[in-house]
Amino acid sequence: MSQEKDRMKGKRKNGGDDGQVVCSFCGRSSDEVNSMVAGPEAFICDRCIMSSVEILRREISAIKPTTAGGGDSQPFQPRLINPKSIMESLGQYVVGQERARKSLAVAVYNHYKRIESQEWSRDGDVVIEKSNILLIGPTGTGKTLLAQTLANLLEVPFTIVDATSLTEAGYVGDDVETILARLLQASDFNLERAEKGIIYVDEIDKIARKSANVSITRDVSGEGVQQALLKILEGAVVGVPPRGGRKHPEQQLINVNTRNILFICGGAFEGLDKVIGRRIAKSSIGFGSKVKTQQVENDPGILKHVSQDDLHEYGLIPEFIGRLPVISTLDPLDAEALRSILVEPKNALVKQYRKLFEMEECELVFEDAALEKVVEIALERGTGARALRSVLESIMIDIMFELPSMTGVRKCVITPEVIAGEGEPEFYHEGGKRKKTA
Ligand code: ADP
Repeated sequence: MSQEKDRMKGKRKNGGDDGQVVCSFCGRSSDEVNSMVAGPEAFICDRCIMSSVEILRREISAIKPTTAGGGDSQPFQPRLINPKSIMESLGQYVVGQERARKSLAVAVYNHYKRIESQEWSRDGDVVIEKSNILLIGPTGTGKTLLAQTLANLLEVPFTIVDATSLTEAGYVGDDVETILARLLQASDFNLERAEKGIIYVDEIDKIARKSANVSITRDVSGEGVQQALLKILEGAVVGVPPRGGRKHPEQQLINVNTRNILFICGGAFEGLDKVIGRRIAKSSIGFGSKVKTQQVENDPGILKHVSQDDLHEYGLIPEFIGRLPVISTLDPLDAEALRSILVEPKNALVKQYRKLFEMEECELVFEDAALEKVVEIALERGTGARALRSVLESIMIDIMFELPSMTGVRKCVITPEVIAGEGEPEFYHEGGKRKKTA
C-alpha cells in the first residue's frame, strides 16, 4: 500500500517511472489518452478533465436555485410556455393539424412541468411519468415540422434520427447510443442542456416487427431496435461515445441521463388504417354495422381511432407502446391546406421566394391560378406538402439563375402556364415595360 502511494507520488512529481508523463489522477500514461495538461507539479488527462467537468456541472445544478432562461452560470431550465401559447405558436408554422398541435402542446407543457417538479419533490410525492409522444400521419403532413418548431420555441437542443439506420447493439448500423451522441452535438456538448432536449425519431413504423408471429431468425432491425430503444425512452444513464459511432473500449464515454429527454416518434404507418378498420368491423357485428364499418374504413381521418392494440397488431411490442403514452394523429392535407401552406406560415415557400426576389429589387407575383396548379401537381404526387417545394423549386431554379444577370427587371409574374412548363414568366421593366423572355 505504502509502495503504491510512493509510486503515485513519484509519478506526480516526476512523471512515470520510465520518465513517461502520467496523469496524476487516474495514472494513465500519455500513450493511453488523447491529451495531457501539465501543471507545475502534476498532470491531468483529457478523460479526467471531462469527468471533473461533469461532476462540477451536476453539483452546480444541484446547489443553485432554478431560474428561467438558463445562461452559462445558471442551471439550464427550458422555457415553460403554457399549452395555449404553444399551440398558437405552432400554428404560425404548421397549417391545420389542430388535434396534433393540441396534444403536443399539453404533453410538452406537462413534460417540462414534470422536470420542474423533480426539483421540489420529496420521497412519497406523486411521480409524474414521462410523456413521450407518438405522431402518426401520412408522409409530408408536418410531423417533423411540429417537432422541430417545438424545439425552436422552447429553445432546447433538438435532433432528428432515422429509426431505419438503427440496429440492435453489435450489428451493422448505428447503435441507439448514437442518437444521444447527436443530441450532445446539437447542444455543443453541454450535457445539462442535452439532458433536457428533444429527439425526433423518424420512420418509427419501419422498426415494427415483420410479422406478429415470433420469428426463428433474429429481427435485428425491427423488434431488436425496439428493445434497444426501450431503456433510453424510459430514462437511463447511458455511456455515449461523444463522436458517435461504435463504442471502443479505450474511448472515453459521456454519461447521459435520458430521464428528462423528450422523445417524439413519428411514422406514416402505412396499412394501419386497414388494421383499425378490421378491428372496428369485428367489434361491430350486427344490424346496421356493415354500413357503419364501411363509413369508418373510408374515413380519411380513420387514423384518429387508433388504439394501442392496433399498434401491437401492426408490429410494435407492448413495452415499446407503453413508453409512448401520448399518441396523436395527423390528417392528410387536402388542396385547401396545401394552398395555405404555400402562402400562410411564417416562412411559407412563397414568402421565401418573394424575399429572395426582393433582394434583387424585383417583385415576385404568383397568379392565383398558378398556386392552384402547384397544388394540383403536388396532390398527384401523394407526398403531402413535401411535393410543394420540389414542384416550385424546379420552376424557380431557372428564373433565379437568369434574374441576377437581367438588368432593370422590377416585376416577375408566374402564371399557371409557367408551372405547367408550357410558358415563360412575364417580366416587367421599370416604367411597366414588358419583356417576355428571360
Ligand atoms: P413528415 O410528416 O413526413 O415528417 P415534414 O414535417 O417533414 O413531413 O414536412 C415536409 C415538408 O412539408 C416540410 O417542408 C414542411 O415545412 C412542409 N409541411 C408539411 N406539413 C405541413 C403543415 N401542416 N404546415 C406547414 N408546412 C407543412
